[in-house]
Amino acid sequence: MLRVTLNGQAGEFPEGATVLDALRAASIAVPTLCHDPRLKPGGACRLCVVSVKGWPRPVPACSTPLAGGMEIETHTPDLEEGRRASLQLLARDYPREALRQFPEKEFHRYLRAYGLEEEAVGQLEASLRDDSHPYIHVDMSQCIYCYRCVRICAEVQGQFVWKVLNRGEATRILPDSGTTLRESSCVSCGACVDACPSGALEDKTLLLHGVPTEWVKTTCPYCGTGCEMRVGTRDQRIVTVRPALEAPVSKGHLCVKGRYAFAFNHAEDRMTRPMIRERGEWRTVSWDDAVRFVAARFREILERYGPQSVGVLGSARATNEENYVAQKFARVVLGTNNVDCCARVCHAPSAAGMKLILGTGAATNSFDDIEKARALLVCGANPTENHPIVGARVKEAALRGASLIVIDPRRIELARYADIHLPLRPGTNVPLLNAMACAIVEERLYDEPFVQERIAEWEEFQEFIRAWTPERAAELTGVEAGKIRAAARLYATSQPAMCIHGLGLTEHGQGTEGVMCLVNLALLTGNMGKRGSGINPLRGQNNVQGSAHMGCEPSHLTGYVPLENGRALFESVWRAPLPSRPGMNMIEMMDAAAEGRLKALWAIGYDILLTNPNSEMTRRALESVELVIVQDMFLNETAREFATVFLPVASSFEKEGTFMNAERRIQKVRQALDPPGEARTDWEIVCDVARAMGKGEFFAFGSAEEIWNEVRQVWKAGQGISYARMEQNGVQWPCPAEDHPGTEVLHAETFAGNRRAALRRVEFRPTAETTSPEFPFLLTSGRTLYQFNAGTMTLRTANTVLHPADFLDVSPDDAARLALVNGERVRIRSRYGETVLPLRIHPGVKPGELFATFHTAAVFLNRVTGPHRDGYTLTPEYKVTAVRIEKP
Ligand code: SF4
Repeated sequence: MLRVTLNGQAGEFPEGATVLDALRAASIAVPTLCHDPRLKPGGACRLCVVSVKGWPRPVPACSTPLAGGMEIETHTPDLEEGRRASLQLLARDYPREALRQFPEKEFHRYLRAYGLEEEAVGQLEASLRDDSHPYIHVDMSQCIYCYRCVRICAEVQGQFVWKVLNRGEATRILPDSGTTLRESSCVSCGACVDACPSGALEDKTLLLHGVPTEWVKTTCPYCGTGCEMRVGTRDQRIVTVRPALEAPVSKGHLCVKGRYAFAFNHAEDRMTRPMIRERGEWRTVSWDDAVRFVAARFREILERYGPQSVGVLGSARATNEENYVAQKFARVVLGTNNVDCCARVCHAPSAAGMKLILGTGAATNSFDDIEKARALLVCGANPTENHPIVGARVKEAALRGASLIVIDPRRIELARYADIHLPLRPGTNVPLLNAMACAIVEERLYDEPFVQERIAEWEEFQEFIRAWTPERAAELTGVEAGKIRAAARLYATSQPAMCIHGLGLTEHGQGTEGVMCLVNLALLTGNMGKRGSGINPLRGQNNVQGSAHMGCEPSHLTGYVPLENGRALFESVWRAPLPSRPGMNMIEMMDAAAEGRLKALWAIGYDILLTNPNSEMTRRALESVELVIVQDMFLNETAREFATVFLPVASSFEKEGTFMNAERRIQKVRQALDPPGEARTDWEIVCDVARAMGKGEFFAFGSAEEIWNEVRQVWKAGQGISYARMEQNGVQWPCPAEDHPGTEVLHAETFAGNRRAALRRVEFRPTAETTSPEFPFLLTSGRTLYQFNAGTMTLRTANTVLHPADFLDVSPDDAARLALVNGERVRIRSRYGETVLPLRIHPGVKPGELFATFHTAAVFLNRVTGPHRDGYTLTPEYKVTAVRIEKP
């Protein structure tokens, strides 16, 4: 600790602190304008200058390291006069009318504090205003040239949108388009707005609805990164969302979805009353009637067809508590293990592949390891679009010198920052990763001590993998052998090295085996159980990890405990028997429905029709289900076509609970708004139906916290995670006791069960989905930065201005060959169906391949995707579909 004196008071502060850190810790306020805790200290505005005894002149507190023995004065008459003079200069050009609208802006507060409001005599200039962006109002006549916007865009987002032109009086800050923000490379994260102290950049929603009267901290409802945010509300409306500075993952940053895409809460078509459909017509009913109806129909179907005829789907949209209650309902009330969730269509292969080898099916490391890794291997993930805060951290790491390897058929944004990009043919992850393992073994780049100590089946693996030469893989993958070897060397020799993967690895016929091949690489090189390493699946949705982990999984109970291993504990805590017959996962439920074996399905927050592949097949399956209950915020496509009952629910801004992010962190979800109309939380609805079916004693929960406390009883690795402990930063499991700190890195000493991890010998089984003269292109699909999955939320926000429609990316070569022009609408036809969508000529796509987004019901891309599945988990092979392009 460093002992210093601040304004005559002695104090102790940690090593490495700046003078400003010490002042803030001691609650001594000095003004700052260019300072932002997320940025490197600038020391340019000189408002924070302080005197240090014995030093010749005042120094900026923000950029001066604290040293033991310093005697610091902060408010001498000279220092205050200097601050006043600096502010006076800035006030001279600042428009006074801008002071009135947001009196709490930093700059406005300082002018008031130094009695300088009257000296603000600048003018608002229409020529410096830019309202082109749907969310951000720009008025550079309010700019005070602190450059926080310029620096945060570069240092935190890695985007470099804001440029400084000219010098002195002629200085101007402009977006990189040279014209409007809308036309620039802005990714709409809003960081520049958060950083701006003067109102030159402001949220349009604040100008429209006024400043918030209340703030609530909660967790983002979109992707699995788990950013924390402060939600500003006024009159039961969200008027702004700001990043939580202390958030462990996002560290004071959000992407466009978390920051701006909240208007869906207030959408006009938000469903607010339960409904029952009779003779094709929807009828609004009371909750009592809806619950009675659901209970009666379930009873009737159970009596006629038995418990294998019913199923429940939880989802990432619901909290951990709600998913826990949903699976308990399936098992205790319906007496079936037919329960699943949306993990089935994304990362079930990650959970299965990692559990099989490592014993735990979840990310081994934390997002903070991105900055600790010397190499990052990003495989089948596009984080700058889909997990933008992770993407920004990876980009910043690469800009700071970390090696970056990108494995992706397309030249995604991260490929521009990569040392090596391996643009493999879709569906060839297994040969590519095997070949990297082969190169590591051949060149003896493996971690010998780690292999000797912690790996099993090493001899067998060596023998197997030597056949997978990069030359052999080159023919299958289309990637040059030299590049594969170079990537293997870079990954193996830059220690520690961290793998990050996404659905480009999992949504394949060999999804689970692809994950195993990636795990092999980490094990071979000793990149396991230490900081900056490991295997880290980027979970696509806020709580998809939590929904499966809470037991919305036919063969696993809460905590991902296999059904049979957990039976005794669960039966004793629940005081109810568990069904013994194996359950069906969602894909098997759809098959059973098509064969007339599934009679009732309750879908909580999951739009089956729009989301599942091969929608004609899904449609035929749902047509055979007698009772479809949809529980959602909006009448989704499944509800429109097939539901008998619709139950309206609260959004995550309208309820309490927890989400589990992709690094196993459980974080609080807090209520900022009342649910609209009669909408209710998912868990309340499920408990009511349980009561109506005579099983209320097992569902006597009065709050989300009570449910969570029952989760802690049945899940040993979560026992130490209380609501009180989650208040601050959430906690990463395993955390078996209240005094356990939580676990940032898994497998540090040993693998689950104190065993060695066996390297897997994975043979390549090519996909059945092949091109032919009739279907010459391979189509892959994915999300964009601005839209989210089925579009339920983002399509009801101004993100539609930034990204109005799904599109098809075609390589320039193919476009020229087929005489296709940018923006024209084309039909894509597969062996399973067809759709029409606008075309974009994109240099990042290779000839013979196509990429499309899948968010809108208008395009309904899953009309085209096929029936193939991962061999272990049945996760659909969304990433490979043979198609042809036609002019409509
Ligand atoms: Fe939300 Fe994901 Fe964006 Fe973070 S990165 S703000 S969690 S959508």
